[in-house]
Amino acid sequence: MIMMKRYIKGDLLSCFLNTPGCRSRNLMDIIFKSRKSWLSFMLLVMVLCPGWQARADDTVRTPDQMRSELKLAVDDLLAHLQAITGREYQAVTSDKPQGESDIILARSGAKGLPATIAGLTEHNSQAYHVFGDGKGPMWIVGHSDLAIANGLYSYLELLGVRWLLPSEKWTVIPSRSSVKLSVDKLYQTQFLTRTFFGTGGFGGKHAGDPEMKIQRHWEQWMRRMRYNGPIKLGGHTGEAFNKTFREQLEAHPQYLAMIDGKRQPWSVGVKFCVSNPDVLALYTQWRLDTLADAIKRDPNGPLSFATSVDPADGGGHCTCPDCLKLGSVSDRVFTCANQVAKAVAQKFPGKFVNLYAYNEHAFVPGIDLESNIIVSLVPYGLHRTGMNGQQFIEAWSRKVKMLSIYSYWGVTDWTMCRPTFSFNESALTQLDHWRENNVSMIALESSHSSGSMGWILYALAHMAWDSTSDPHQIIDSFCQTAFGKASSPMNRLFDRWSDHYLQSDHELATCFANIQEAMGMTSDPAVQARLRDMVLYVQYLALLHDYEKEKANTPESLAMMKQLLEHVWKMHDTAMVHSYRIYQLAIHRRENKHKTELEALWPIKDPTAQSWQQATPYTSEQVDQMLIDGLAKYKPLDFKPQSYTGDYVTLPDDPMDTTTDKRHLVKMSTGELEFKILISEGMTELAFDFRAGPVKNPNHLGDPITLVDADGKTVYEKYFPADGQWQEIVIPVSKPGVYSLKVYDQKAFCLLKLPQSVYTTMVNPFVSADVCSRMYFYIPKGQKTLAFFEAGVIPITLFNNKGQKVDMNGQRGIVVVDVPQGQDGTVWSFWGYKSYTPMRMLNVPHALSVSPNILVPESALEVQ
Ligand SMILES: [Zn+2]
Repeated sequence: MIMMKRYIKGDLLSCFLNTPGCRSRNLMDIIFKSRKSWLSFMLLVMVLCPGWQARADDTVRTPDQMRSELKLAVDDLLAHLQAITGREYQAVTSDKPQGESDIILARSGAKGLPATIAGLTEHNSQAYHVFGDGKGPMWIVGHSDLAIANGLYSYLELLGVRWLLPSEKWTVIPSRSSVKLSVDKLYQTQFLTRTFFGTGGFGGKHAGDPEMKIQRHWEQWMRRMRYNGPIKLGGHTGEAFNKTFREQLEAHPQYLAMIDGKRQPWSVGVKFCVSNPDVLALYTQWRLDTLADAIKRDPNGPLSFATSVDPADGGGHCTCPDCLKLGSVSDRVFTCANQVAKAVAQKFPGKFVNLYAYNEHAFVPGIDLESNIIVSLVPYGLHRTGMNGQQFIEAWSRKVKMLSIYSYWGVTDWTMCRPTFSFNESALTQLDHWRENNVSMIALESSHSSGSMGWILYALAHMAWDSTSDPHQIIDSFCQTAFGKASSPMNRLFDRWSDHYLQSDHELATCFANIQEAMGMTSDPAVQARLRDMVLYVQYLALLHDYEKEKANTPESLAMMKQLLEHVWKMHDTAMVHSYRIYQLAIHRRENKHKTELEALWPIKDPTAQSWQQATPYTSEQVDQMLIDGLAKYKPLDFKPQSYTGDYVTLPDDPMDTTTDKRHLVKMSTGELEFKILISEGMTELAFDFRAGPVKNPNHLGDPITLVDADGKTVYEKYFPADGQWQEIVIPVSKPGVYSLKVYDQKAFCLLKLPQSVYTTMVNPFVSADVCSRMYFYIPKGQKTLAFFEAGVIPITLFNNKGQKVDMNGQRGIVVVDVPQGQDGTVWSFWGYKSYTPMRMLNVPHALSVSPNILVPESALEVQ
């Protein structure tokens, strides 16, 4: 049976709108405004198009039964097709429609598919194919309804639709008369699921957004960007197990973990004794029943793919003699996972179990693992295995087939919606790790801020589906689509942010100048509207910058925060910042002493309050004035950023002082640090002092130190306990050359004393947990200014090559000072940096040494 509900106006319109030159959408509004004009339009059409008849092809043929994700996407497709063509499209669900549909959605097993689509069978459940010969129907075919839904969005992108950011202003819909394309494209991804969420969420219905508009926009955008997947993994299960089986557990004390020789009493978070076969059987049956329930409810639903076997959160694993025989904590936790995995494979072939590699079971177990185990990793940060993110993923990818990654990308709590999450340094590096190690799932904790993360998430959405795509081209085309003729200054802005956003008056001045230049290059109202969103976002960054110049919880900071919050709520509709989370962070963290006052000013449950009533969106005139004011307030500095390349070399004619064996203290921040060290002819050992900790956690592994020789060969690798004791490390060396000394501090705040008589250079962005001792750097010959970025809690002290203090004129953020003639081509120094925000040299080599015996990239020796 054909389900075709057609309205005659659609047919009339299509006939009319197919006439070249008559394709304005405003026309539709005018025509349908009154019945009278509608009638005259009908008459006009009947005169102009005597042979008109119903267009059978303005239909989308869908499968008879659809899951909700496909239904939503089909509705979205129909709305977009109408916006593109001006014609009303209908969904039909029969296999034999009268006439031919323009677009056919089908599952990969359907009959009558074009031959080219057969190749789909080789790919995973997320693959889909978009095919059309330009004349016949468009085919969108996928293995599952979710795959077809994703296919619809790719098809709309092929038609020229772009959802740049989650708002109508940033949505681009082209006008076309035909929606048939000549295309034959298979889409596939190694990442079965791709999801993100902004920490803190949207806060549901509240006075700042009574209609939950922003949440809807983000959810819709995520669907269109194909942020989804067929699998939803559960988390910790131990707590629910304990609650469900409290009676049995209390009746059998031997079921519960033994710690210090004693069986633990029941509690919500208590672990069970994995070596006890009875409690393991009880747990296994419970997981099987849970999976059976999910499969019964929805056999292909996201919860039917795997059942979680992650223990209760925290430590306290059983240490009874039989459990200890099983091996490490990881061995014990994965012994349990193996047991459930075997039972699942037997009862539900093709289904999985999943758990985190986390806390005490972050370590790769020594035992073999069943093939249907999914392991979720949090590679960057929250584990103390002594491995960096990349090594951690590599180690696990050798052990299990299916890896899921949980990563933090520009979380609002850390960035306050500044674009500080580096696209080039962090996003692309992580994505490379995931690709190389066959990661299957990505879950990001991020921010619902278009300004800081929207454009990066836009790029990731496309990169995840096309491993050959050029990430910089995606950003370029984002700018091109958003800003058209005015794209080049905006491209410069996003290029800068892709590297590092360096919060400073200079950066704000440059941003305002980029936008002003772009404004002058366009008369397109759609582009102007997007540029005005950018003004509001940069103004937010400026207000935040000004707020942070004040000491928090003072009358001055409160006044600035009031201004900031007013701006945030007035620009809420743009989705450029994560308003709700910023509001929470402002009240509960930044200005917590003024919590009551700020809550009274912005009562989140009372939309009738005066402040909410006044927080109406800015007018275009107000935004344009904001830009003028921003340009007047922030002035750019005069310097040219410069990067340096080549091998690390000593300075020519460097009078190195080798008489002293003094060692220079480096206070290290946590994370990875790399020093280049010159092992010169005749040196037989490298000796330095090291201290880590003390750290109380008995499971802390200590800090690994590695030394890699000039050929890239690791010549030394050892963990040092975080016991707070100084020790001398002596590493024998034989071959001369530039070595890499790497220390990976596991939040033990280690200290290092390097010999001043050896040429060294630290090559990382410079962060320092405590005020740093003296660090030296080189100013290349011909350089007339020195520019660097700092965000220290106190200003640093800068010295020229003669050891005289250099006046920085009170500059903070980006600092630019003159280099007097004769002081170029020399080594300068500073001390007193303390911040987790990296200090960066901007126009001289970012090569910091503990003594004037410095190594620099070769190109720094060329005269500037
Ligand atoms: Zn035990």
